[in-house]
Amino acid sequence: MLSVSFAIALLLCVAVKLWLGARQAQHVLAHRCEVPARFRDAITLEAHQKAADYTVARVRLNAVYTVIEAVLLVGLTLLGGIQYLDDSIARGLAHSNVGALPRQVLLIVLVLLVSALVDLPFSLYRRFSLEERFGFNRMTLGLFMRDLLVSSLLALVFGAPLLFGVLYLMQAAGRLWWLDTWLLFTSYSLFVTWLYPVLIAPLFNRFTPLEDGTLVERVRALSTRCGFVAKGVFVMDGSRRSSHGNAYFTGFGANKRIVFFDTLVARLSASEIEAVLAHELGHFKLHHVVKRLAWSFCASLLALALLGYLIETDWFYLGLGVDPTLATRNAVGLMLFLLVLPVFTFLLSPLFSLGSRRHEFEADAYAAHQTDRNELVQALVKLYQDNAATLTPDPLHSAFFDSHPPATIRIARLEAAPT
Ligand SMILES: [Zn+2]
Repeated sequence: MLSVSFAIALLLCVAVKLWLGARQAQHVLAHRCEVPARFRDAITLEAHQKAADYTVARVRLNAVYTVIEAVLLVGLTLLGGIQYLDDSIARGLAHSNVGALPRQVLLIVLVLLVSALVDLPFSLYRRFSLEERFGFNRMTLGLFMRDLLVSSLLALVFGAPLLFGVLYLMQAAGRLWWLDTWLLFTSYSLFVTWLYPVLIAPLFNRFTPLEDGTLVERVRALSTRCGFVAKGVFVMDGSRRSSHGNAYFTGFGANKRIVFFDTLVARLSASEIEAVLAHELGHFKLHHVVKRLAWSFCASLLALALLGYLIETDWFYLGLGVDPTLATRNAVGLMLFLLVLPVFTFLLSPLFSLGSRRHEFEADAYAAHQTDRNELVQALVKLYQDNAATLTPDPLHSAFFDSHPPATIRIARLEAAPT
């Protein structure tokens, strides 16, 4: 029964993703010959067409990825891939005295490694062919390998202790293990989110305080007015990896930061930077990071409760291609759940995107109130243009995948905002 519903859900998920991608490509190509009226004096036809071609190229790559990802998923589950890996580990460790816990961690690491190997050619192609072709890539192969090494080490350093903790609780904490696991997971996520801006992000980029002579006073004045620590505004050397520009707000407590990519700072005037800063301060002032965390903790509590139920049944394992009597039952259950859950929740993604876009509108409204909205509009137009973001996305594709509102809607809303 589960095998059949999983197969149907996966087919549906792949079909919807491919259909949305096709719609996006069609919609963008249909509007390729004309810059939307609102942007005609700011964006050239050439830039508009580059954005269209870039969008279509990414949609096509994603379509291939969607299919390969689904094949991998079926291979790991219904076709017995996880069972095979587990059998191999059991054979390999038959004469050693490796404990049950490390053995389960080893199995999970192996499955993650297989997925990472499948992802790698896509990352390489995305970076060194697609991004390169549109002039965005600034990364060397050496830097790519270094990033890969550092992020794998980080995954090991931060992931392995959590994994050991969760598997230990599953084994030792009794029927309500999932509640203890949730507490562990929640506090660990808070800790890593708090640590991220000051410890993890600097392993990849250099962060320097935003101290441009003309800017520093305005940044300080605006930050003070909004109740933000003025030393929390940084410029990041994003240009080491790509010419895409951006700004974001991250972390909480003493470690919260607003980060500008150097590529963006180089492109914007002082008052445009101030307007973008006001938008990021809006995310801070309206507690968006904390709200997002709270939501994800609610979702993970629900998910863990469901896993708590599923893991006690045999049909959950049998339906996904695994023998329920194996010794690594807990690790396998956890992994099957994490692999299969997204297939069943994919149709909810418009809800998550809606939440994220709502936060963007709120931050825009806050910025319009704090600074000159026209400066923010100009900054956004530059941002869309420099990133070759399409001005004419398919509305349905956008509803599913866009964390930020499409340019036309966002700017129209900003221009209509009450002062
Ligand atoms: Zn934002």
